[in-house]
Amino acid sequence: MSWSRPLALLAAAVAASTVTAGGTSAACATSDEVAAFQAATPAARAAFARTHRRAKDRAAWDARRRARLQALERSALSCASGRQLLPFFPQAGIVGRDLYLANTVDLAPGDAIRDPWCGSRTYDGHTGDDTTIRSFREQAIGVPIFAAVDGRVNSVQEGNKDTSYGTQTLPWDNHVLLDAGHGQLQVYGHLRRGSVTVKEGDWVVAGQQLGLTGSSGNSSWPHLHFTTMLNFEPTDPWPGPCRPGPSGWAQDPAVGDDLYVRDFTFSADGFAGRRNLPWDEATRTGSFASGRRNVDFRVELGNAASVSSVSVRFVRPDGSTALADDPAVGFSRWRQTYGTWRYAVDLDVVGPWRLLVAFDGHTLVDAPFVVAATRLANRAPMPVTAALTTTAAGVRVCTVAQDLVHEDPDYDVVRYRYVWRAGGRVVRAVTSAGLADALARTVRDAVSCTVTPSDGRLSAPPATATG
Ligand SMILES: [Zn+2]
Repeated sequence: MSWSRPLALLAAAVAASTVTAGGTSAACATSDEVAAFQAATPAARAAFARTHRRAKDRAAWDARRRARLQALERSALSCASGRQLLPFFPQAGIVGRDLYLANTVDLAPGDAIRDPWCGSRTYDGHTGDDTTIRSFREQAIGVPIFAAVDGRVNSVQEGNKDTSYGTQTLPWDNHVLLDAGHGQLQVYGHLRRGSVTVKEGDWVVAGQQLGLTGSSGNSSWPHLHFTTMLNFEPTDPWPGPCRPGPSGWAQDPAVGDDLYVRDFTFSADGFAGRRNLPWDEATRTGSFASGRRNVDFRVELGNAASVSSVSVRFVRPDGSTALADDPAVGFSRWRQTYGTWRYAVDLDVVGPWRLLVAFDGHTLVDAPFVVAATRLANRAPMPVTAALTTTAAGVRVCTVAQDLVHEDPDYDVVRYRYVWRAGGRVVRAVTSAGLADALARTVRDAVSCTVTPSDGRLSAPPATATG
């Protein structure tokens, strides 16, 4: 999941093009001033255009305005610390839940590999943090990527295909390179084609959406590659015994090492080909027609490198066991992995059944399903609760509390509609597959976040958080 351009060369180019020599001036522009100037430009341009009809005049106005913006940006960057803390994880989701930290920066010299915790959650030469989403199905719904700090968009690469997986990688990704001043640079890599909402020269603020998670370029799975450079050197923001020094985060996102279930589903049509991951095009279901049936199910796991046993039990409505098995571990024991199973089960009683799946003796899946005369019609997702937090930088993060097995009775992939309001006005509305969303830090009023889960056809009641 490497970001495919040589960082050192790029960093040198950045140094040459944007960093002001000679240190700070007495009165630097603040980031808020730059953002406000940029935000006021469309209205100012429209006002000018009302009284100036000639294209030449308008072009000259645009050029002056652009030059003024660039001067403000240079001024703000010359006063930036170069060490802004990252106020939140800049992808829509929760690390260690729907997002999985697959690789960190490789901190070991030479051929060895080492992550910040002195483990092997990386690969040789890796320069950033890779966080995967669960599937191309989630990618298609959309998983936003946000600016982690304030800064200037130094470059954008767009228009490249975003369907890389496994070894089927492509040479060019879509990415945003953000300059936060004094050698603090960030790369947001592998973005979804056509999703980038900023352009070179734009000023962005922490919490502002930059694009969507994709799988463009040298990518083996849909994910964000997030490179954080300090003093032009890739660093890992997570501190640990093998990454001494202060944290790059205002508050470290918890990574966690415990085995957990990232997703579960039954399939009505198996998991052959694109029905399986990363496409996830199977017919997800939570009901089966009674009689002797093939029951297919899949469990996605995080932190699964050392799983040594699995047990499966189908439980009838009266609590009796219809089938029990301790299959061999047939899936790859990677940190991020999944297994599929098929059992011929005599579904001899109609009513609410359960499937229990235990790993290393811990029942991590307790999945209800219905046996009826015929499969049930679609049901709405389960209700959620929402929580709103305000980071030190002022970015608001709205988080959905949800169980990754039980979010929908038909095991549909759930999308969340996040509607943010400030002073009664909608300031952001987005549909996302992620369990969290963010609001740009420049919205200062009291805000609310209303989340509506949907399976694409039916919705659960909205949940609102305020703060
Ligand atoms: Zn990467």
